[in-house]
Amino acid sequence: MNAPTIQTVMDLIDGRTDDLIALTRDLIRFPTVNPPGEAYRPCAEYIGERLKRRGFTVEYVRGEGSPGDSDAYPRTNVIARWEGSEPGPCVHFNSHIDVVEVGAGWTVDPFGGEVKDGRVYGRGACDMKGGLAASILAVEALIDSGLPLPGALEISGTVDEESGGYGGVAYLAERGWFSEPRVNHVIIPEPLNVDRVCIGHRGVWWAEIETKGRIAHGSMPFLGDSAIRHMGAVMEAFESRLYPAMTARRSDMPVVPEGARQSTMNINSIHGGQAEGFDGLPAPCVADSTRMIIDRRFLIEETLDEVKGEVKAILDGLAAQRHGFRYEIRDLFEVAPSMADRDGPVASTTAAAIQTVLGKRAQFVCSPGTYDQKHIDRIGKLKDCIAYGPGVLDLAHQPDEWVGIADMVNSAKVMAVSTMDLLTRG
Ligand SMILES: [Zn+2]
Repeated sequence: MNAPTIQTVMDLIDGRTDDLIALTRDLIRFPTVNPPGEAYRPCAEYIGERLKRRGFTVEYVRGEGSPGDSDAYPRTNVIARWEGSEPGPCVHFNSHIDVVEVGAGWTVDPFGGEVKDGRVYGRGACDMKGGLAASILAVEALIDSGLPLPGALEISGTVDEESGGYGGVAYLAERGWFSEPRVNHVIIPEPLNVDRVCIGHRGVWWAEIETKGRIAHGSMPFLGDSAIRHMGAVMEAFESRLYPAMTARRSDMPVVPEGARQSTMNINSIHGGQAEGFDGLPAPCVADSTRMIIDRRFLIEETLDEVKGEVKAILDGLAAQRHGFRYEIRDLFEVAPSMADRDGPVASTTAAAIQTVLGKRAQFVCSPGTYDQKHIDRIGKLKDCIAYGPGVLDLAHQPDEWVGIADMVNSAKVMAVSTMDLLTRG
C-alpha cells in the first residue's frame, strides 16, 4: 500500500459525500432558533457524541448566567479535542449552532433538511450548519487517513452567535478556551463562499440619541419646545456633515460588498411624541422627547473614540447654536474592528489550499458585519483567526436557505489541506 498523502484525505472526503449530506441534514433538524435558544443541548450533544466515537475528548460548557441562559434554554456549548501523535500546534474549527428565526416565504420545511438539485435546504443550512458539517468531515478524514498528525484538532459548536455570542464564544474565550497555548489557529466556517478567505470585519457602535423638549398644547407650540424638531436638526446635520464625511473614507480592509468599504451608519429607528398603538385621535401635544437609534459601522482606520467624538461634536455644535437644544446619548453596543494578517499562518495556508483544491486564486475579504472573530481576537488575544466556509453569504437569514453539496465537499478538502499545513509547517 502506498503511503498516505494529502490526496488520500481528499479521496476520503469525496467518498464520504453521503455522510456529509446526512450530517448536515441531521444538524438542520435541530431547530436551534435564537432567540430563545431552542434545542441547543441536544444539538451540542449530537456533535459531542459523534466526535467522542472518533476518539475526541468532549466537554460541554454552559454559558451560565449569560443573556437568555435558563434551565429551559441552557446555553450549551460543545468543545471536542483530539490529540495527535506528538506535541504541536492546535487548529480549532469554531461554528455557531444557533440559527435565526424562520420568517415567512419558505417553500420547503425549514427544519426538514430537504435535498434537491445538489443542495441541502433548511434554516441554518448556509449559516452555518453546512460549514460545521464540512469541518467535522475534514478533521475525521485527516484522522482516518493514516497521515502522521502532530498537534491537536478541536471542533466547537457554540451558541448565541446571532445575538452577540456572549453565552458562546465570548463566554469560552473569557475562560481560556480560545487562547494560546491551548489553541493556535482558528477557522470559523461561516458562509463566505468556498473560494474566499475572510480575514476580519468592521467595527460597530450602536447608540441611542435622545433630544429633549418641553410639553405644551399643540395649538400653542411656541409655549413648548419640540423634541421632534430638534431631532430634525440632528438629521439635517447628519445629512450635511456626517454622511458626506463617512462616504469620503475608504478602508484598506477588503470589505465586501464594495459599498461597505466605507464608513456607514444606519438609523435603525426614530420615536418621538406620543406612543402609537391606540385607536382614536391623538391629543394635541408638543413632543418632549425623541429617540433615535444609530448603527454606525466603522473602519479599522478609525478609532471608536473618533467615531463617537464625531457624532458628539455635531450634537454639541447644535447645542451651542440652536436655542433650547438639549440631548443625551447612550452607548448600546460596541465591537472593535478585527483583521487578521493575510500573510499569517491560517490565512495564507487556507489561500494556498484553495489554490490546491479549486485551482484558483483565493480572494481575501472582510465582512461588513461582525461575527465571533471579535471575541477570539479581543478576549482570547488570538490573532490567527479567519472565517472560511461553504455557502453564499447573501442566502444567510433568507427563506429557502440552502448550501451546495459540491461547495461543502470542496470546502472540507480546503479545510483538511490547510489544517495539515498548519500542523506540519514546523
Ligand atoms: Zn453565521
